[in-house]
Amino acid sequence: MNIILLGPPGAGKGTQAQRLVEKFGMRQLSTGDMLRAAVKAGTPVGLQAKAVMERGELVSDEIVSALIGEELDAMGTEAGAIFDGYPRTAAQAESLDGILAARGRKLDHVIELDVDEDALVERITGRFTCANCGKGYHDKFEQPRQLGVCDKCGSTEFKRRPDDNEETVRTRMAEYRAKTAPILPIYEARGIVTRVNGMAEMDHVTAAIERIIKS
Ligand code: ADP
Repeated sequence: MNIILLGPPGAGKGTQAQRLVEKFGMRQLSTGDMLRAAVKAGTPVGLQAKAVMERGELVSDEIVSALIGEELDAMGTEAGAIFDGYPRTAAQAESLDGILAARGRKLDHVIELDVDEDALVERITGRFTCANCGKGYHDKFEQPRQLGVCDKCGSTEFKRRPDDNEETVRTRMAEYRAKTAPILPIYEARGIVTRVNGMAEMDHVTAAIERIIKS
Protein backbone atom coordinates (compact mmCIF):
# COMPACT_ATOMS: atom_id res chain seq x y z
CA MET A 1 0.00 0.00 0.00
CA ASN A 2 1.42 3.36 -1.05
CA ILE A 3 -0.45 6.57 -0.40
CA ILE A 4 0.03 10.30 -0.81
CA LEU A 5 -1.27 12.75 1.78
CA LEU A 6 -1.95 15.98 -0.03
CA GLY A 7 -2.98 19.32 1.43
CA PRO A 8 -1.70 22.80 2.20
CA PRO A 9 0.83 23.48 4.96
CA GLY A 10 -0.76 22.90 8.35
CA ALA A 11 -3.47 20.60 6.98
CA GLY A 12 -2.33 17.86 9.35
CA LYS A 13 -0.43 15.60 6.95
CA GLY A 14 2.42 14.96 9.37
CA THR A 15 0.13 14.24 12.33
CA GLN A 16 -1.97 11.80 10.35
CA ALA A 17 1.08 10.14 8.81
CA GLN A 18 2.51 9.50 12.28
CA ARG A 19 -0.72 7.82 13.33
CA LEU A 20 -0.70 5.53 10.29
CA VAL A 21 2.89 4.61 11.07
CA GLU A 22 1.89 3.59 14.59
CA LYS A 23 -1.27 1.74 13.56
CA PHE A 24 -0.27 -0.03 10.36
CA GLY A 25 3.51 -0.13 10.47
CA MET A 26 3.67 1.97 7.33
CA ARG A 27 6.60 4.29 6.75
CA GLN A 28 6.33 8.06 6.57
CA LEU A 29 8.38 9.68 3.84
CA SER A 30 8.37 13.38 4.57
CA THR A 31 10.58 15.45 2.29
CA GLY A 32 10.22 18.33 4.78
CA ASP A 33 11.69 16.16 7.56
CA MET A 34 14.43 14.88 5.25
CA LEU A 35 15.36 18.43 4.25
CA ARG A 36 15.33 19.66 7.86
CA ALA A 37 17.65 16.77 8.78
CA ALA A 38 19.95 17.73 5.91
CA VAL A 39 19.99 21.38 7.05
CA LYS A 40 20.80 20.31 10.60
CA ALA A 41 23.57 17.99 9.45
CA GLY A 42 24.99 20.68 7.15
CA THR A 43 25.14 18.40 4.10
CA PRO A 44 25.49 19.95 0.61
CA VAL A 45 21.73 19.45 0.08
CA GLY A 46 21.04 21.10 3.43
CA LEU A 47 23.24 24.08 2.61
CA GLN A 48 21.37 24.56 -0.65
CA ALA A 49 17.92 24.09 0.87
CA LYS A 50 18.17 26.20 4.02
CA ALA A 51 17.51 29.69 2.64
CA VAL A 52 14.86 28.43 0.21
CA MET A 53 12.95 26.79 3.06
CA GLU A 54 13.23 29.87 5.26
CA ARG A 55 11.58 31.89 2.50
CA GLY A 56 8.82 29.27 2.15
CA GLU A 57 9.69 28.53 -1.45
CA LEU A 58 10.15 25.08 -2.99
CA VAL A 59 13.43 23.22 -3.08
CA SER A 60 14.38 21.90 -6.53
CA ASP A 61 12.53 18.88 -7.92
CA GLU A 62 15.83 17.04 -8.53
CA ILE A 63 16.87 17.29 -4.90
CA VAL A 64 13.62 16.09 -3.36
CA SER A 65 13.06 13.30 -5.87
CA ALA A 66 16.58 12.01 -5.20
CA LEU A 67 15.87 12.06 -1.44
CA ILE A 68 12.65 10.10 -1.93
CA GLY A 69 14.39 7.46 -4.06
CA GLU A 70 17.14 7.01 -1.48
CA GLU A 71 14.67 6.73 1.39
CA LEU A 72 12.56 4.15 -0.45
CA ASP A 73 15.65 2.06 -1.13
CA ALA A 74 16.68 2.28 2.51
CA MET A 75 13.31 1.07 3.80
CA GLY A 76 13.20 -2.16 1.78
CA THR A 77 10.11 -3.65 0.17
CA GLU A 78 7.93 -4.78 3.07
CA ALA A 79 6.27 -1.69 4.50
CA GLY A 80 3.82 0.58 2.72
CA ALA A 81 4.83 4.18 2.11
CA ILE A 82 3.03 7.37 3.12
CA PHE A 83 4.24 10.30 1.06
CA ASP A 84 3.91 13.46 3.14
CA GLY A 85 4.81 16.73 1.44
CA TYR A 86 5.80 15.02 -1.79
CA PRO A 87 5.00 15.33 -4.67
CA ARG A 88 4.54 19.09 -4.62
CA THR A 89 4.84 19.88 -8.35
CA ALA A 90 3.77 18.24 -11.61
CA ALA A 91 7.41 17.34 -12.30
CA GLN A 92 7.66 15.58 -8.92
CA ALA A 93 4.41 13.71 -9.57
CA GLU A 94 5.89 12.44 -12.82
CA SER A 95 9.15 11.48 -11.13
CA LEU A 96 7.26 9.60 -8.44
CA ASP A 97 5.59 7.39 -11.05
CA GLY A 98 9.01 6.34 -12.33
CA ILE A 99 10.50 5.99 -8.87
CA LEU A 100 7.68 3.67 -7.77
CA ALA A 101 7.59 1.65 -10.98
CA ALA A 102 11.34 1.04 -10.78
CA ARG A 103 10.80 -0.48 -7.34
CA GLY A 104 7.75 -2.57 -8.18
CA ARG A 105 5.40 -0.30 -6.23
CA LYS A 106 2.24 1.45 -7.29
CA LEU A 107 0.17 4.29 -5.94
CA ASP A 108 -3.04 3.15 -4.27
CA HIS A 109 -4.59 6.31 -2.87
CA VAL A 110 -4.18 10.05 -2.89
CA ILE A 111 -5.88 11.49 0.17
CA GLU A 112 -6.61 15.18 -0.01
CA LEU A 113 -6.99 16.96 3.32
CA ASP A 114 -9.49 19.69 2.67
CA VAL A 115 -9.03 22.68 4.99
CA ASP A 116 -10.07 26.26 5.46
CA GLU A 117 -7.00 28.33 4.63
CA ASP A 118 -7.81 31.10 7.09
CA ALA A 119 -7.60 28.63 9.97
CA LEU A 120 -4.21 27.37 8.81
CA VAL A 121 -2.15 30.42 9.68
CA GLU A 122 -3.33 30.18 13.28
CA ARG A 123 -2.68 26.43 13.35
CA ILE A 124 0.85 26.80 12.00
CA THR A 125 2.08 29.88 13.84
CA GLY A 126 0.99 28.33 17.17
CA ARG A 127 2.50 24.91 16.75
CA PHE A 128 5.59 23.55 18.47
CA THR A 129 7.09 20.12 19.14
CA CYS A 130 8.98 18.32 21.85
CA ALA A 131 12.67 18.66 21.02
CA ASN A 132 13.30 15.14 22.31
CA CYS A 133 10.49 12.89 20.98
CA GLY A 134 8.87 15.12 18.37
CA LYS A 135 5.35 15.08 19.82
CA GLY A 136 3.37 18.01 18.45
CA TYR A 137 1.62 20.70 20.52
CA HIS A 138 -0.15 24.01 19.99
CA ASP A 139 -0.21 27.26 21.99
CA LYS A 140 -3.98 27.46 21.83
CA PHE A 141 -5.31 24.00 20.97
CA GLU A 142 -3.02 21.51 22.68
CA GLN A 143 -0.71 22.52 25.48
CA PRO A 144 1.06 19.73 27.40
CA ARG A 145 -1.02 18.54 30.39
CA GLN A 146 1.66 19.92 32.69
CA LEU A 147 2.84 23.21 31.21
CA GLY A 148 6.40 22.98 29.93
CA VAL A 149 6.68 19.19 30.27
CA CYS A 150 6.16 16.80 27.35
CA ASP A 151 3.22 14.40 27.95
CA LYS A 152 4.93 11.62 26.11
CA CYS A 153 8.57 11.65 27.25
CA GLY A 154 8.83 14.20 30.10
CA SER A 155 11.32 16.42 28.30
CA THR A 156 11.23 20.16 29.06
CA GLU A 157 12.78 21.23 25.76
CA PHE A 158 10.51 22.31 22.92
CA LYS A 159 11.16 23.78 19.50
CA ARG A 160 9.47 25.71 16.71
CA ARG A 161 10.19 25.56 13.00
CA PRO A 162 11.91 28.69 11.67
CA ASP A 163 9.47 28.72 8.72
CA ASP A 164 6.35 28.75 10.90
CA ASN A 165 6.10 32.55 10.97
CA GLU A 166 3.20 34.35 9.33
CA GLU A 167 5.09 35.82 6.37
CA THR A 168 6.69 32.50 5.39
CA VAL A 169 3.41 30.65 5.92
CA ARG A 170 1.72 32.98 3.42
CA THR A 171 4.42 32.19 0.85
CA ARG A 172 4.06 28.45 1.52
CA MET A 173 0.30 28.72 0.95
CA ALA A 174 0.84 30.60 -2.30
CA GLU A 175 3.32 27.95 -3.45
CA TYR A 176 0.75 25.27 -2.62
CA ARG A 177 -1.98 26.99 -4.59
CA ALA A 178 0.22 27.70 -7.61
CA LYS A 179 2.24 24.50 -7.87
CA THR A 180 0.82 21.69 -5.77
CA ALA A 181 -2.98 21.97 -6.04
CA PRO A 182 -2.70 21.71 -9.86
CA ILE A 183 -1.35 18.14 -9.60
CA LEU A 184 -4.66 16.85 -8.18
CA PRO A 185 -6.30 16.47 -11.61
CA ILE A 186 -3.49 14.08 -12.64
CA TYR A 187 -4.56 11.70 -9.89
CA GLU A 188 -8.26 12.44 -10.25
CA ALA A 189 -8.03 11.22 -13.84
CA ARG A 190 -6.78 7.91 -12.45
CA GLY A 191 -9.70 7.72 -10.02
CA ILE A 192 -7.52 7.42 -6.90
CA VAL A 193 -8.29 10.70 -5.09
CA THR A 194 -10.44 10.81 -1.97
CA ARG A 195 -11.14 14.03 -0.16
CA VAL A 196 -11.27 14.13 3.63
CA ASN A 197 -12.48 17.02 5.77
CA GLY A 198 -9.27 18.19 7.43
CA MET A 199 -11.17 20.62 9.67
CA ALA A 200 -12.83 17.77 11.59
CA GLU A 201 -11.42 16.58 14.90
CA MET A 202 -8.08 14.81 14.49
CA ASP A 203 -9.50 11.41 15.49
CA HIS A 204 -12.27 11.75 12.92
CA VAL A 205 -9.76 12.59 10.24
CA THR A 206 -7.74 9.51 11.21
CA ALA A 207 -10.86 7.32 11.09
CA ALA A 208 -11.76 8.65 7.63
CA ILE A 209 -8.26 7.91 6.34
CA GLU A 210 -8.34 4.40 7.80
CA ARG A 211 -11.62 3.70 6.01
CA ILE A 212 -10.03 4.69 2.72
CA ILE A 213 -6.99 2.51 3.30
CA LYS A 214 -9.09 -0.51 4.24
CA SER A 215 -11.54 -0.08 1.37
P1 ADP B 1 4.53 22.08 5.32
O1 ADP B 1 3.73 21.04 4.64
O2 ADP B 1 4.07 22.37 6.71
O3 ADP B 1 4.72 23.33 4.51
P2 ADP B 1 7.06 20.59 5.02
O4 ADP B 1 7.75 20.14 6.23
O5 ADP B 1 6.42 19.55 4.16
O6 ADP B 1 6.00 21.63 5.55
O7 ADP B 1 8.03 21.44 4.09
C1 ADP B 1 8.82 22.51 4.59
C2 ADP B 1 9.61 23.16 3.45
O8 ADP B 1 10.51 22.19 2.87
C3 ADP B 1 8.79 23.65 2.27
O9 ADP B 1 8.27 24.94 2.47
C4 ADP B 1 9.82 23.58 1.12
O10 ADP B 1 10.71 24.68 1.18
C5 ADP B 1 10.61 22.33 1.46
N1 ADP B 1 10.04 21.12 0.82
C6 ADP B 1 9.50 20.05 1.47
N2 ADP B 1 9.07 19.11 0.60
C7 ADP B 1 9.32 19.61 -0.65
C8 ADP B 1 9.09 19.15 -1.97
N3 ADP B 1 8.49 17.96 -2.22
N4 ADP B 1 9.48 19.93 -3.00
C9 ADP B 1 10.08 21.11 -2.80
N5 ADP B 1 10.31 21.62 -1.59
C10 ADP B 1 9.94 20.89 -0.51
